[in-house]
Amino acid sequence: MPSKYHPINLDPDKCIGCTNCIKRCPTEAIRVSNEKASIMQEKCINCGTCISVCPYNAFHGVTKGYRGVSEYAIKIALVDPIVYSQFATEVAPEAILSAIKSSGCAEVFEVSKGADVVTKFTKKYLNLQKKTPIISSSCPAIIRLIQLRFPELIHHILPIDSPVEIAAFMAREEAMRKYGLKAEEIGVYYSTPCPARTASFMNPLGTDSTNISMSLPIHKVFGLVSKMLKGTPAKAQQRVHPSSSGIDWSRVGGQAAALGIDEYMPVDGIENVISVLEEIEYGKMRHLKFLECQACVNGCVGGSLNVENPYIAQSRIRIISNRYKDKPVETSNIKAEKFLFTRPIHPLHATKLDQDLSKALLKLEQVEETLKELPDIDCGACGAPSCRAFAEDIVQGRATIDDCVVLTRKSHLKK
Ligand code: SF4
Ligand code: SF4
Repeated sequence: MPSKYHPINLDPDKCIGCTNCIKRCPTEAIRVSNEKASIMQEKCINCGTCISVCPYNAFHGVTKGYRGVSEYAIKIALVDPIVYSQFATEVAPEAILSAIKSSGCAEVFEVSKGADVVTKFTKKYLNLQKKTPIISSSCPAIIRLIQLRFPELIHHILPIDSPVEIAAFMAREEAMRKYGLKAEEIGVYYSTPCPARTASFMNPLGTDSTNISMSLPIHKVFGLVSKMLKGTPAKAQQRVHPSSSGIDWSRVGGQAAALGIDEYMPVDGIENVISVLEEIEYGKMRHLKFLECQACVNGCVGGSLNVENPYIAQSRIRIISNRYKDKPVETSNIKAEKFLFTRPIHPLHATKLDQDLSKALLKLEQVEETLKELPDIDCGACGAPSCRAFAEDIVQGRATIDDCVVLTRKSHLKK
């Protein structure tokens, strides 16, 4: 069932129906009809590719509040190291944190602390596992991809909350102690690199609820912080103790490298991830202990709601994380087991033709028959990404064969 919330909106005034997006969507979730694109939510993995590839900026990530914003006694900004990578390396994380804090937050808290908790847990978990490889659970777009296309790999997913959720919990606990407030009086605000994370707060994966009160795209925070940085006095800067490896999680390979093992593989970019998961589905790569999959090119630094080029951002993260290599780290005694999944991750059936196997087989036959009638050139003029997807749309009642521009033209020429 489609959720009533979806983390991506389309501005119909900007969309001209160019069909650029339909071919780039990795799950064939977009259709164009009457010169306007629309997303089939049940097929969407919230990867944000459509946001990145639309030449008219018609898609955008939503800002989402999960409770009334004015209800909170204090506000905490949960800062992902990705934010640091959006600025030149001369701008110290301390200055960025300070600017964010002076925008009206009582506290700032770094997501890298949550990453350290996951790393610690993963090291222990990998030693106990026979089913390999274990697939990282930090990218919600990948979890959804597995639910939709690789359900037999669900049991390979690392069963722990993301660093963002863990850091949000830690931040709130710390503030409760410091200010004597109740959990519900504290708002935790997160600036997200991607719609996938917004979606994971709306519909939590593996747990019942989110620790995030509001999420907004990083590009919005970037504009605000850029202005504030100009006026931030040096003495107002926050002292931070981030771990170098926690910062490094923002780029692909960072979380795997933190584990200190050889048998791992980082994969970035949704198409690459799909081809690797296909290999694993066929029983290959079982020698690997850990597979770090990131939907975005170069990892989260390549998220569609960031402002910086993913390659520039990636190199900045490397530089920033190296700066903290020999610095003392603020460690937490929090038990990672507190954040294990409490709900199973279920397969999603949106890519199946029917829940009922016999009906699905019948529909598959109809798809094959319909496909024979189509020109099989995947032109996209019908608004579907391929002739096969169009044939499925016809069989599922979402389109009619008259929507095929090529066939219609041919029949006109014959007359
Ligand atoms: S977010 Fe990704 S899966 Fe969803 S419609 Fe856009 S490109 Fe397709
Ligand atoms: S790689 Fe990171 S930024 Fe990209 S979709 Fe996954 S969690 Fe979001």
